[in-house]
Amino acid sequence: MNFTMLNEQLRTSDGVLNFCQEYKLLATSKKCVTCGTICNLVTREDTSDGFTWRCTASICQRRVSIRTGTFAKSKLAVACILKIIYLWAFERAGKKDLQRECGVKSAHTIADWKNFLRDICQDHFVRNPRQIGGAGRIVEIDETLFNRRKYNVGRILEPVWVFGGYDPTEKEGFLVSVPNRNAETLLPLIKKYIQPGSTVVSDCWKAYNKVGGEGYRHLKVNHQVHFVDPQMKATTNHVERMWKEAKQRHKIECGTKREHLDTYLSEFMWRQTFGSNPFVSILTHIAESYPVN
Ligand SMILES: [Zn+2]
Repeated sequence: MNFTMLNEQLRTSDGVLNFCQEYKLLATSKKCVTCGTICNLVTREDTSDGFTWRCTASICQRRVSIRTGTFAKSKLAVACILKIIYLWAFERAGKKDLQRECGVKSAHTIADWKNFLRDICQDHFVRNPRQIGGAGRIVEIDETLFNRRKYNVGRILEPVWVFGGYDPTEKEGFLVSVPNRNAETLLPLIKKYIQPGSTVVSDCWKAYNKVGGEGYRHLKVNHQVHFVDPQMKATTNHVERMWKEAKQRHKIECGTKREHLDTYLSEFMWRQTFGSNPFVSILTHIAESYPVN
């Protein structure tokens, strides 16, 4: 579905409702919160949604907004929210794109929705923990410093260590911020994120010395001698390329608050996995985070 098709679908209240029900973002049935009787969807022209739930019990007739979960707290039209989600999914969520295409003027509102979508990415991995690698597969691991400079106010924030791994065959990785890069910190994360039996390639950082005793085949690359181990063809080039890309993206969002780093890393991982079908994937994951029925 391209943006023109989406806009066409969202032109009417019916179209918006059908779309949201199809992707389980709005309920298809509801029981009255007061008396438990089945509600009907009735048109209501005085709300931006165009519909409301109404209790079918004649003594009650309570009305309840169709908005739940995702949409409950927002004043934006549902169609507008869906357009924001679409543009975010296809990485066209620059401030100007959103203002022009969705008619959202508040930078705060835009930032809130981007935060929300990054939280959805993070929730997805919390619900579906993932281990990369596997028997006979290679996982490159490394740590790097993320420097958070706030360009708009010229203030330099504290650098934070990020630990990660990358499977170059599956093109999937993990990235996680860490308080330090000791063995006590990194070894449990290796076991959490990398399948046993994988061949783990690292540099000669001493925290990795015990990786070989944890059910992995461990190859070390000595950066001071040569970048590619001539015997094993072991390299950490791919994980280093992942750092470069992650930092590039991070830099674009230059107003990034420190506490958001983890969700930025989640979004990065999410895009590695779902980047080929981002719109339907994020709608699916929103529906999983906020079940409506
Ligand atoms: Zn009722």
